[in-house]
Amino acid sequence: AAVRAASTWANVPQGITEAFKADSFAQKINLGVGAYRDDQGKPYVLPSVRKAEDQVIASRLNKEYAGITGVPEFTKAAAVLAYGKDSSALNRLAITQSISGTGALRIGGAFLARFFPGAKTIYIPEPSWANHAAVFKDSGLEVRKYAYYNKQTIGLDFDGLLADIKAAPAGSAFLFHACAHNPTGVDPTPAQWKEIEAAVKAQGHYSFFDMAYQGFASGDIHKDAFALRHFVAQGHNVCLAQSFAKNMGLYGERIGAFSVVCADAAERARVDSQIKILVRPMYSNPPIHGARIAAEILNTPALYDQWLVEVKDMADRIITMRALLKDNLEKLGSKHDWSHITSQIGMFAYTGLTPEQMDVLAKEHSVYATRDGRISVAGITSANVGRLAEAIFKVKG
Ligand code: PMP
Repeated sequence: AAVRAASTWANVPQGITEAFKADSFAQKINLGVGAYRDDQGKPYVLPSVRKAEDQVIASRLNKEYAGITGVPEFTKAAAVLAYGKDSSALNRLAITQSISGTGALRIGGAFLARFFPGAKTIYIPEPSWANHAAVFKDSGLEVRKYAYYNKQTIGLDFDGLLADIKAAPAGSAFLFHACAHNPTGVDPTPAQWKEIEAAVKAQGHYSFFDMAYQGFASGDIHKDAFALRHFVAQGHNVCLAQSFAKNMGLYGERIGAFSVVCADAAERARVDSQIKILVRPMYSNPPIHGARIAAEILNTPALYDQWLVEVKDMADRIITMRALLKDNLEKLGSKHDWSHITSQIGMFAYTGLTPEQMDVLAKEHSVYATRDGRISVAGITSANVGRLAEAIFKVKG
């Protein structure tokens, strides 16, 4: 498969929210949300976050600026969370706090646009999170797509993915979703990641990981970091965008990190210095409140353990809703194979419904989601899953 040129991916959450708000039906369902909801459909603040925030406020810290690369207690702990406490990457890692995952991607894009040798091109999966192409284009990179999703199987196009890795010019930059691929919910298995790694290495490609859902996908922070850690263990000096929006529910606090695994401490010093030169004219230095909350959780053993349980609870609720949706569809007598609903992972599920079927779901059943057939599983609750399954059954059979 030839590597495809960039195309836009239909994704209009703004329109969905408006249509949802305008609908007066009491049992309307919004599956367009990009944030976790509890089983009552309400936004959720993690108890560990409340406690950490209380502790931060109680310590009456001043409001002086952080350094250009942010709050060191935060970035140090974020690196350990991602790469693992025994990782060889830690003592040669350049890391900066960022304006959540998006800001991390933006710094990474700007870094590659300035320093990546050869073509200023990055390959992203087709489809990908709608903002990836925009962020990288605005960073000055050319964006190309690699095969990822197989519409027929509603699963991974593994052959196409490997073929596109092999077809790209040696030494290209590739963006990988570390876990819980958005929008498809389709992830490679560990065995497939190993083959992807080998193909990337054979081509001398550079890997950029976007990890927006560590812990939120499987409920296990280590399992969700498998791909990243495997690449590092195999000798790839990758770069990484981290977000704490989902796994700590810190969406609006805008807390994340961008890091570059370097060859050695000397290279780390050079990269660190260049990151500072990049960040300074963008926003001088990042906000401190979210970083302090995340640092309090990551660096306080009791809070950290509590947080691990709470992340797992969120992941488990999503996994349970997937199973309930599939069960309900099967009970209604649907003859379709819905196993993809439960094999997919993370906040989003690809239903395989067509744009026209999604229109009918909205117009006739007051079920709102993007026309690409993606539903946010976070919007499903014990109370609405039955009606949702009926609506999907009526539309698709
Ligand atoms: N990457 C992916 C794949 C995402 O899904 C998201 C959020 N939806 C982000 C990055 C960035 O989100 P944020 O800037 O809120 O951390």
